[in-house]
Amino acid sequence: MQVGRLRIDPVIDGAGRFQPTRAFRGTTPEQWEPHQDLLDADGLLGFSMGGFLVRGADHVTLVDLGLGPRSFLGIDGGAFLDQLRRLEVEPEQVTDVVFTHLHFDHIGWARHPDGAAVFPRATYRCAAADWSHFMVDHPEQEAELLAPIADRFEQWSGSGPLLAGLDTLEAPGHTPGSTVMVVSDGAERAMLLGDVVHCPIELVDDEWQAMFDVDPELARRTRVALNRELEGSDIPVAAAHFPGLEFGRLLPATGRRRWVV
Ligand SMILES: [Zn+2]
Repeated sequence: MQVGRLRIDPVIDGAGRFQPTRAFRGTTPEQWEPHQDLLDADGLLGFSMGGFLVRGADHVTLVDLGLGPRSFLGIDGGAFLDQLRRLEVEPEQVTDVVFTHLHFDHIGWARHPDGAAVFPRATYRCAAADWSHFMVDHPEQEAELLAPIADRFEQWSGSGPLLAGLDTLEAPGHTPGSTVMVVSDGAERAMLLGDVVHCPIELVDDEWQAMFDVDPELARRTRVALNRELEGSDIPVAAAHFPGLEFGRLLPATGRRRWVV
């Protein structure tokens, strides 16, 4: 994905495929019938772990760092650094790491098992609201992962410019500090949605519920507002778990919105 002079590449850490009625508990095959275009040839829903590499003149930025060398939901992480090398980027070249939120499946490659930062020259950044939630108020596995590199972190609050070509757009609900990253150069832009949506179906239909939301009602309001903004905007977007981390656009359609990659 090219955005003016900036280039965005998906960095896939691991992937899986699921029965859609199991991925969205309580849904029926009948409810999925109109959404077959979102499933693969076997009728399964793809789900990826990973992040995005954003390259410009001055910065080599990673947005989210995948699951890390562990398994979750039957998905094995582990491919992130190899994928990065395939894009001809060594860990030492990364200047900035930015987190859409601090859930453990987005911070997996923040540090090595010995506590050293995986990206030794990078500044790590997250929303202040997520730092408070995961590191101070509810210190669980995320705090355990990040504690050894806490001194590398800078925090931002709310929406605004963060780095050249990268703005934050606050999108709370999934976590208190959940953030959409807006990548722009001149009149061109793209958005990285983090976990504001987990599956393209949540862009198409406002009523489908995302998973693992800290505040489900706030997450729903944030999602509905985002869907309204994206519909027909022609802005390419990708989210942190979409199949293949592919970019797509949300088209207005008669009766129902459509997601096209
Ligand atoms: Zn996630």
